[in-house]
Amino acid sequence: MAVIQSIRGTKDILPEEIKIWQYIEKTCRDISQKYGYSEIRTPIFEKTEVFARGVGAETDIVNKEMYTFSDRGGESITLRPEQTAALVRAVIQNNLLANTGALRLFYIGSYFRYERPQKGRLREFHQYGVECISSSFPESDAEVILLANSYIKSLGIKNYKLRLNSLGNDLTRKKYLEVLVKYLNSNISKLSQDSKNRVSTNPLRVLDSKHPDDSEIILGAPSILDYLDTDSLEHFELVKKYLDAAKIEYILDSTLVRGLDYYCNTVFEFQSDLLGSQDAFGGGGRYNKLFSELGGKDTPAVGFAMGIERLILILSALKENTTKNSDISAVVVPMEEKYYEYALVVASKLRDEMNISTQIDISRRSLKAQMRDADRLNAKYALIIGEEEFTNNSIMLKFLEEKRQEFIPLEQLKNYIS
Ligand code: AMP
Repeated sequence: MAVIQSIRGTKDILPEEIKIWQYIEKTCRDISQKYGYSEIRTPIFEKTEVFARGVGAETDIVNKEMYTFSDRGGESITLRPEQTAALVRAVIQNNLLANTGALRLFYIGSYFRYERPQKGRLREFHQYGVECISSSFPESDAEVILLANSYIKSLGIKNYKLRLNSLGNDLTRKKYLEVLVKYLNSNISKLSQDSKNRVSTNPLRVLDSKHPDDSEIILGAPSILDYLDTDSLEHFELVKKYLDAAKIEYILDSTLVRGLDYYCNTVFEFQSDLLGSQDAFGGGGRYNKLFSELGGKDTPAVGFAMGIERLILILSALKENTTKNSDISAVVVPMEEKYYEYALVVASKLRDEMNISTQIDISRRSLKAQMRDADRLNAKYALIIGEEEFTNNSIMLKFLEEKRQEFIPLEQLKNYIS
């Protein structure tokens, strides 16, 4: 029978890779906690309108990339393509804003987009992200950027770029869009087909087109930073001032618009040259309209999301090896089947009383094969049990790194193993 393959653009995360995932996830939790962010988990699927309304009907995500289906009851359901809209739905529904000042949340999970798979781009991928909800002040924009930066740094990633832009408020964008559309229309013949279409549907997105035909026109486009109204400008100046004070370097890039409709004011993206064409490994920004779009009361918020697969690509390119250490410290080696019962007692003692991760042979293999296993597992100790050990309630303790061994009564084991 033919072997069934996994779905294109999805990946099994195998035991040999899991260390780096755990390391990345642990770092997410440590850093989030340091900044006072609590974890939230929402369902993998939502009513389609959460994303259609939240992310924006004219975005690529909603137009082309969502995994949407009707369930057996005829309801339109979508596998979450991102977290923010679903998280906002959960905050509104569970009334999480009732008694607090700022609400600080983080998440880790998998997300689904029907994109063309390539290096760093999957159809199921994983993100870590945070949302800082209910402050409209630039202090909160700075806080999430600082948090993102601390996170990247504590993973040991150094050479990356932070691109920063402001999309201003509604007033700014209204003014700017008039100028931009005029400019794009006067150059429309030079634009790629995709960008031509976007001039009428979502003109801002023309600015982040990667199509070579568009690069010259984008370069000459008016900058939104020249159109910021007083409030937006003040907000952005303070964000920059706080980043300067925290000694965080950034590059101002007025073509950075991000792919989702809900952003306003600050937007940012982290980029690495180690990634190839999909070079952004994280990004975010402020969203002040999303709560009301989803039926809540007006609530300002700001957040970011990082792609875990891309972080792993960067760490692999840096040869950060976090997979060396073994999970197993001790291996219990019964030389014959009849010692297995005693071996179980020894293994339990190690695990329960001494907190030592321990593995025991379950395949009735030879001493030699079991010792080879201990070596492969990078274990520190092998506890060999033969006739003499069995009858004397003892073990032969082999210190594998030091290549020495000692015959030890079981009750004294504690004195020899740390
Ligand atoms: P976005 O909010 O769409 O910019 O996504 C935030 C981050 O998630 C990106 O910077 C990527 O690191 C990651 N990401 C987004 N889409 C994918 C994908 N299809 N495959 C892998 N990672 C992705």
